[in-house]
Amino acid sequence: MVKSKLRTVRGTLLVPDPIRRTLAKQDDVVIDIDADGTIRSIDDADAHPSVPPTWPGTVILPGFVDTHIHFPQTRILGSASGPLLDWLQEAVFPEEARFAELRYARSVAAQFCEAMLRQGTTSAGIFSSSHPGATDELFVALDDWGLRAQAGLTLMNRGAPADVLLATEPALEAAEALIARWHGHDRDRLRFCVTPRFALSCDHALMRGAADLAERHGLFVQTHLSENDEELRQTAAAFPDHADYLAVYEDYGFVGKRSIFAHCIHLSDSEWQRMAQARAGVAHCPDSNFFLGSGCMPLARALGHGARVGLGTDMGAGRTFSLQRVASAAYDATLVRGEAVSDGETVTPESLLWLATRGGAVALGFGDRVGCLAPGYEADLVAIDVPEDLPDDRLYDALLFRHDTAAVRATVVRGRLCWSREAPATGP
Ligand SMILES: [Zn+2]
Repeated sequence: MVKSKLRTVRGTLLVPDPIRRTLAKQDDVVIDIDADGTIRSIDDADAHPSVPPTWPGTVILPGFVDTHIHFPQTRILGSASGPLLDWLQEAVFPEEARFAELRYARSVAAQFCEAMLRQGTTSAGIFSSSHPGATDELFVALDDWGLRAQAGLTLMNRGAPADVLLATEPALEAAEALIARWHGHDRDRLRFCVTPRFALSCDHALMRGAADLAERHGLFVQTHLSENDEELRQTAAAFPDHADYLAVYEDYGFVGKRSIFAHCIHLSDSEWQRMAQARAGVAHCPDSNFFLGSGCMPLARALGHGARVGLGTDMGAGRTFSLQRVASAAYDATLVRGEAVSDGETVTPESLLWLATRGGAVALGFGDRVGCLAPGYEADLVAIDVPEDLPDDRLYDALLFRHDTAAVRATVVRGRLCWSREAPATGP
């Protein structure tokens, strides 16, 4: 639960460049945070001798941004049930059906929020189930735990068992009610996001209604795109008049700077060019992609096209809530593809940490307020243990790959300490 407000934080920072995929280290500084949670100044610690280091032995980054995660899959994380469409039928839909019950949804929502904060995630793009009540419970928990989010009722009216489907009219009515209650809540910390599960799960009327909702309220749209071979085959068969998968979403006006597409593994060059031109966001979810055997997204190629990329756990197909582990998996995925350096783009631990923080903030539409540490940005922070005696030039490697020792010590959203392993040191 949300605890104390921090007004000063002292430590060593890793500060993402707002544009370029680099980080700058600032040794021993003091962040001054105003009552609203906005960073007022960052000064050398020498100017503040009475402020002790807040979390000694850590390095402080902007909070991690999980651009793609499924709230109702919290309790089936790591269910090995084969490739995407089989896994949905066998593991996912039976569990998501349980979210018809409010009490169940409420208890999982608390577990879900704590699990994200424990791994240093401060913002997320979240799929709920198709149940309006469960989605409301999700927003209540996000509000209570202090997280920042784009979250939405998952829209699906075909291609799944009846107990996880919701017909067009009640789905759109429920979305309107959730928008009225939650969109823009707490100075825009929580946003309602239009969330069609994927093209195969929504008929034309629901897609049209979703597009209308997004346009009228100026909402983000999040969905899945080009994840698995069989899904591609079925999508092509269901939409024979469209040139490719992306064209289906383009047809509904979903592809723009307020959209985020998870996976994007099998896109053609033409699709990548159109994604980049539209400034659409990409949620790269390599751990999930390994677990379901979906393939490896060509990260360097995507960046070469100018795509806006963030990282996503895609928990429950992803086996972790940790963006550090996802960044590590993204490194592995580039090695598997043999393209760690490609199209003039180099994928390094440093650039992956940038994607896990700044890149995700931009992709989710929060880039004007988080994903950086500088005056005017809101103080979303994560403090991570630095292994002892680590040479400076191995810091990024340690944050990505030393899972046993580079652990999250504390997570702060808008200046509020939302989770910590221990009480922080405070000034006099
Ligand atoms: Zn997903």
